[in-house]
Amino acid sequence: MKHSLLTLALILSFAGILFGQKTYIHAGSLIDGQNKNIQKEMTLIVEGNQIIDIQKGYQSAGASDQLIDLKSYTVMPGFIDLHVHIESQTSKTSYMNRFTLNEADIAYQAASYAETTLLAGFTTVRDLGGTGVNIALRKAIDQGIATGPRIFTAGKSLAVTGGHADPTNGFKKELMGNPGPREGVVNSPEEGRQAVRQRVKDGADVIKITATGGVLSLAKDGSAPQFTIEEIRAITETAADYGMHVAAHAHGAEGMKRAIKGGVKTIEHGTFMDDEVIALMKQYGAYYVPTITAGRTVADSAKVEGYYPSIVVPKALAVGPQIQDTFTKAYKAGVKIAFGTDAGVFVHGRNAIEFQLMVEGGMPAMEAIQSATKVAAEVLGKEKSLGTLEKGKLADIVAVKGDPIKNIELLQAIDFVMKDGKVYKDR
Ligand SMILES: [Zn+2]
Repeated sequence: MKHSLLTLALILSFAGILFGQKTYIHAGSLIDGQNKNIQKEMTLIVEGNQIIDIQKGYQSAGASDQLIDLKSYTVMPGFIDLHVHIESQTSKTSYMNRFTLNEADIAYQAASYAETTLLAGFTTVRDLGGTGVNIALRKAIDQGIATGPRIFTAGKSLAVTGGHADPTNGFKKELMGNPGPREGVVNSPEEGRQAVRQRVKDGADVIKITATGGVLSLAKDGSAPQFTIEEIRAITETAADYGMHVAAHAHGAEGMKRAIKGGVKTIEHGTFMDDEVIALMKQYGAYYVPTITAGRTVADSAKVEGYYPSIVVPKALAVGPQIQDTFTKAYKAGVKIAFGTDAGVFVHGRNAIEFQLMVEGGMPAMEAIQSATKVAAEVLGKEKSLGTLEKGKLADIVAVKGDPIKNIELLQAIDFVMKDGKVYKDR
């Protein structure tokens, strides 16, 4: 009986594909990512993984079509988080994990974080650094073996020796070894080019550099520059040869200036951004990815006795609270802002807290939503297929009950998630 039902289901779904079964979504309110106003009583028509039409009013579906009633919901493009670490998640034992976890352990964790992220309404993420399991996870999701957002990943981040993403920082000498371009540690333009080409060979989609010190690495300094401008240029030029952009982690102003002049596309965190950096970002058209949520949460965790190693605590307390003020300053100055959270530094699936922190920081709710849809798709160079709800785009669609423009916190409890035309969550 079970077997024949399964066969019947398979035949029906095959027939659906064959006869062009469509899904009609009745959207009470529609935020399409493009228009600044909310459209009322609209119908989105999805076929396969694409939006094939958007019409005014509630259009009736054919007998063989599927109807999804979201008349009391606000329908939006699937959200894009441009800064996650899908392989890992903060905990008191995070620092031990690098000695205890094998690749398979990381992979199982990453798969569960990916599913959580998708069900929170994030249908696309840019993963800015892990061990390389992120590349395997992207493949598994693309093949339908694992459930998660569409991933664009940097693989392993690039650092200088002793820099923020040097994987052996703080180890005893015998364990330090001598990581090089293959492991993402570079000390010259030549090694920078080699490291980028290695990432291409490994299957990365973007390049991440740690242009300054960072909060969570086992190193004293959290904001001084860590690459020369020549090294950064070699990396961005080589990345461009392969159609990849470069994201730069940066807390201090000098590192940001070198990164922007060196040709990076995004500045991550940007904590101690000064007026000169702001002017440069506008001049070069660089995007700011604030990660306010990460700043808040590392500062909170640093107050918990024993959560972080003692070398990390003062950095977390200094950097954390500053980011939201920097965000406000950059937004008022007209810097292009794209949504990113640094999820992994806090618990996966809570990415939408960032919307609330952006609105608190002075950005109107509609712009905050656009930063996670239209603007984020531009950063990825995927504006033709992602980021807005329009005819011909991929059917990445989320919905929430009520009006998120009036209450941005609603986005922290998404009711409906469709990715690539497939429903993953429906109330
Ligand atoms: Zn990060």
